[in-house]
Formats: sequence, C-alpha cells, structure tokens
Amino acid sequence: MIRIEDIIEKVENNRPNADVDLIRRAYFFSAMHHRGQKRASGEPYLVHPLEVANILADMRLDEVSVSTGLLHDVVEDTLVELDMLRSYFGDEIARLVDGLTKIAHISNLSKEKQQAENVRKMVLAMITDVRVVLIKLADRLHNMRTMQFLKPEKRARISQETLDIYAPIAHRLGMGKFRSELEDLSFQNIYPQEYKRLAKEVEARRPELEAILGKIKETIKTRLEENDVPFVEIQSRVKRLYSLWRKLKKQKISIGQVYDLIAVRIITPNDKKLPYVALSVIHDIWTPIPERFKDWIAIPRDNLYQSLHTSVIGEGGQPFEVQIRTEEMHHIAEEGVAAHWKYKESKLGKKDDDENLDELRKTVEKLLLPLVENTNPNEDSEDFIESLKLDLYPKDVYAFTPMGKVIQLPRGATPIDFAYAIHSEVGDTCTGAKIGGRIVPLRTELQNGDVVEILTTANSKPSRDWLNHVVTAKARNRIRHWIAEQQRAESIELGRKLLEKESDKFRISPKKLLNNEDELKRIANEYGLSRGEDLLASIGYGKTLPRNVLGKFLGAEKFAELDPEKKKETTLQSGFKAVKRLIGLGEDAIIVKGVDNLLTTRARCCNPLRGEPIIGYISLGKGIVVHNKNCKNVSSLMVNRDRIVDVEWAKSEKEEIQSVRLLATTENRTGMLAGITNAIAEIKTGIRDARANVSKDDIGLIEVTVEVFDKKHLDKVVSSIEQVPGVIDVERVNS
Ligand code: MN
Repeated sequence: MIRIEDIIEKVENNRPNADVDLIRRAYFFSAMHHRGQKRASGEPYLVHPLEVANILADMRLDEVSVSTGLLHDVVEDTLVELDMLRSYFGDEIARLVDGLTKIAHISNLSKEKQQAENVRKMVLAMITDVRVVLIKLADRLHNMRTMQFLKPEKRARISQETLDIYAPIAHRLGMGKFRSELEDLSFQNIYPQEYKRLAKEVEARRPELEAILGKIKETIKTRLEENDVPFVEIQSRVKRLYSLWRKLKKQKISIGQVYDLIAVRIITPNDKKLPYVALSVIHDIWTPIPERFKDWIAIPRDNLYQSLHTSVIGEGGQPFEVQIRTEEMHHIAEEGVAAHWKYKESKLGKKDDDENLDELRKTVEKLLLPLVENTNPNEDSEDFIESLKLDLYPKDVYAFTPMGKVIQLPRGATPIDFAYAIHSEVGDTCTGAKIGGRIVPLRTELQNGDVVEILTTANSKPSRDWLNHVVTAKARNRIRHWIAEQQRAESIELGRKLLEKESDKFRISPKKLLNNEDELKRIANEYGLSRGEDLLASIGYGKTLPRNVLGKFLGAEKFAELDPEKKKETTLQSGFKAVKRLIGLGEDAIIVKGVDNLLTTRARCCNPLRGEPIIGYISLGKGIVVHNKNCKNVSSLMVNRDRIVDVEWAKSEKEEIQSVRLLATTENRTGMLAGITNAIAEIKTGIRDARANVSKDDIGLIEVTVEVFDKKHLDKVVSSIEQVPGVIDVERVNS
C-alpha cells in the first residue's frame, strides 16, 4: 500500500510552497471515515483514495487537488455530510467533492440519459473548476486498473462507459496518456477474447518488430548526429492494442497492412524549427508515403496537440510512422491541459495558481463548452450523446476562409457547419456557399483544403432542413434554438389572434386586454407564468383557453353577462379551428382531421391502440386527448359535444411500439406463466413484464405487459394466449 508520506514528498518536490499539512489532515480524515470498509479485492478501502491522490500528485497538481483525491468518496460512501467537510476543509474542497459526488449520483435515468446527464454535468462542473474532471479521471483510472475483482458483466459495463465518456473527454483535453490507458483497459474488459487473440498475435511478432525498431533508432541517431541536428530522445513503440484493433476492424485489413504498427518518436529541444530540420533528415533516409505527412505544428489540433507525423517505407518494405516534436509539445501531447498548468508555473505561489487555473479554465471552456452550449437538459439525450461522440472523435477536415484562416471541422461537415464555426450570425444568415469560387449546394461535404466562401443575406433565416446537413454541435444547437424561438414567436402571434377573436364574441375591444401589459401579466401569473407573452404563447399552444383568460379579465359577473355561450355559440369549436396553423407539436401517430400538427395525448383510461376506432376530446392543458371510441368514459364526454373532434391514425413511417397490459384467467396449475410467455415469444412479441397470482377462488391470474404495433398485432397475441391449454379468458386492462 502506498504511503501518504511518499505522496507528500512528491507534492513537496513539485511545489516547494505547498501546504502539505492539508494533505495530511485529509488523509487522517479519510482513513478515519473509510475505516472498516473494504474494496472488492479485500484490501482496505483507503487504498483507493490514496492511489487516486498519488495519480494526482504524479500529475503535479496542487495540494487542494491531492487532498480532494483523498476525500473524494467520503460524502458518497460514508456518513460524512458536505457541511461537515466544509467546516473541516473549507469551501474549495467542499465544492470539488460536491462536484464529484454529483457526477457519481445520477439515478432513475435510462442508460443513455444517465450518460448524457453525466457528460453534461461533468462539462459544466469542469468549466467552473477543471480539477473536478482531472480528479474524476484519476478516480476512473484507478478503478479501471483494479477491476479484476469485479464480475465480468460489471467490468464490461464500467468499461463501456469509460470508452464512451471518459476516454473521449481525456482525448478532448489532450491527455494522451490517460486516454491510451483507459482505452486499452476498457478494450480488455469488454472484448476479453479479441483482446487476448490480438495480444497474442502482436506478442508473436514483437521480437522481430523490436529488432527492426532498434535498427531504425540506431540509423536515426547516427544521421541526426552527422547532420548536427540536436535531439533529446528517440522513443519507439508498437501500436497500442485498442487503436490497432479499431483500425483493423474499420479498414478491414490485416496487421501487415497497418502503416503505423511500429513508430518512432524524435523529441527535440524546445525550438520550433528543429522538428522540421529533423524531418528533412528522415525524408532523406527513407521514402515518405505520399499524403501521410501531417503538420500539426503549423496547425495545432484544437486539443492543443502539436507534432509532425510522417510515414515512410523502411528497409524490406516495412512501413513505419515517425513523429517529431519538441519536449514541450511532447509534454502537452501526453498530459494535455494538465501539462499547461505546470508549464506556466515557474514561480510558485497562490496567486500564480489562481491565474493558472483561470487560464486553464478558459482553455477547457474553449474545448468543451461548444458541447453543451444552448442544449436544453430536457431535449433528446441520445441525440446529445451522438453529437458528443461526433465532436469528441473528430476525423478532422481543414477548410479555409478566403482570407486564409483555418477552420477545423469534423469529417462530414458542410458549408453550414463552416458558417456557424465562423460566427453564429454568419450561420443564421447564410444563404449559399462557394467552394474554390464555384457555387455549391449547402449540403456539400467539405474536403480538406477547400477554400469556402459563405454567402449571407441580411434578413435570411436558418432552415429546419439544415438539421439534416450539419454535424457540429454548435450548428445543430443554434438551428434548434432558432426553430424553438420561431415556434414560440408563432404561437404568441396565434395566441394574440385567438384572444382577439374571443374578445369579438364577447363584444369587447380586444385592445382593452391586449394593450394592457399589467393586466396580461397579472393573468399570466395566475396561470403560473411570468410574462404576458408567455400567456399568449400558452393560448397559441392550445394549453390555455382564451375564454378562460377573458373570464379572469372580466371577472365573474361581467363575464356571465357578456357570455356568448348562452346564445349557444360553439366558442370552443370555432376557437379551435383557428389553431390550425400551429406547427411542430403533437404525436406523430395521430392526426386531427382538418387540422395540422396539434398536440395530442392518448387517454390513459383506454390507451387506444393503432387500428382501433378513436375519437378526440379537447381538454384543457393537454391539447386533444384521444380515446378509444368504445371507452366507457366517452359517453360522458359526449355531453360537451362541441369539444369532440374527429381524429384518425396517421400513416406512420416507423413501426411504433406500444405497451399493452393483458390479464389472463387460467386454471390453477403449474407452468401456466411459462406456457403463456412461451406462446407470446413464439410469435416474436416483446414482453415487458409478467407476473402470476392466484385468486381466492383458486383461479390463476396472469398479468403480462406486451409490446405491440397495432390492433391486429394485439389480436394475434390474444389469440395465441387463448390457445394455451388451461387458459380460460384473456382481457385487456388499462390503468
Ligand atoms: Mn472513487
């Protein structure tokens, strides 16, 4: 077990002025509260926070980070509460631990939602303090290193999450070393067989590859010296298993065809010119492979990575990659944003640290904020994860503005992405694009080296269709944001018109209310809305009835006096017709006759199924509630005839699954549940839930929830259950 004094010594070496007493106190506190707890390996739990702190000390982080590493699990896993931690260790550490605990604590969400929420929270937490993510990554790394004691399923699940979220974030932050180790450990745990096979294959070739690498290094060393090119170190490696595996799978090639199976790296002193000089020597010795040369020094990757890459053909036709960079660039390639911190810190002191943190925060913000900008926590989480993955693994395309500025975009990007990357305004008003001087469609995929000119028109607006042609989160979010605003503007306008119409019926001037900001606001507040505009929008969305708003405006007495309902006017129906043009709401599967895209909900009492006869009822707040025509509640709804509307099933493009609960009454004998579930599975129907019971009078009651597409499908399921021996009756039940 690592000793706390070793950790303290590391911190003292890196930061002579560090307050190591804080670390010691954190250690005792952690030891005391984790006392008696064990890890899956049987070791004392304390090993984990100690190792995490050690990783953080190796990263040369400050004493606050190292102490937080020691304390990171106390709130999550012991009885210690945040307030107590705050009183012992102050606000800063309490805030960091709180950030970490929150990331760990997201339950009751689907897996995708949890992941999306995790990333979102992490990104937001990081932006306030990047140390949260550095500590989280260290925590994850240690857990990944020591997962051999967990069950294989759990290992695979944690590893998948690491691969989906933590490795990409490490990559995004330029932390190459972290990323590599996380990926290889995940690979090993998710695909143990393939990992073993590949490892064996590489191991078999290793002696041969090492020999080749040895010779290459020797040649480079001699030639650099002959040419008086200074260098610090020449490293070599055989490709990591995970990235090798990905390449083999993606390009469907064999190991022998991988260009960078082996690679050497030349580290030069810190002079930006030296890598280029060394490169000329390399290209002089071996023939470079065309198009494999990349200059990440002139154009750094946006995760700050800088290096020259080239692939050459060695003796015997063996291709290999050469990376050339300065010491400082190398450091940043391995440690990413964490390296930035220590590099800048020549004079140590609290103030410098704060400035450093601030600078680091800005860098992290630039790298990660586009991922969450303008995203709404309620929007589709899967979409969010998708765009995150796209943005985190950029297969970059470099395009240029006519002025020669480089715009880096993920592969698949179009001029629309390009326009938004320049500036949101440019994106919003973009009407066309030229590539290399020629007009091209906006959906054109950009290629490396394209010179792109964006054509804009002052009052032009984004189009919903653009969502199909963008790949960057920034463009997508802006377009969505714009559509949402547009819808709101339309519904406010519509709400205004509905209210005007209603006022006409009451024979009062619409201006009386519409021009009275204070009164509108007062009524809005009554509905729990903050502004008059919100009230109009709510009317426009069909959530609030204009008639009721007028009621609140006029007061009960006046309202009754002027009420046109008495004259048997069908206010609701006519008001409803005006809602026609409202866009963008509603459930795809149901259309309201004569009206486009209205908000519809399925009635809970009868849960109508595609194919069944249905009827719509205008309900306050819920839009149109759709019932089965035979639902027992429909007859009572018929009292308000003018609220009934015709609805029908829309043609649906995708098959939509609906859950339906069935209750089978059976003879009480063994094997009934199995018989029924088998019958359902036989006709390839999903079962969401199944349970068996026996009634007082010895009748078997079996309840199953099945997933069906429509009425026909359900009928098939019912008849298959009816044919199971022992089944007496099957009926559909609704909640
Ligand atoms: Mn932990």
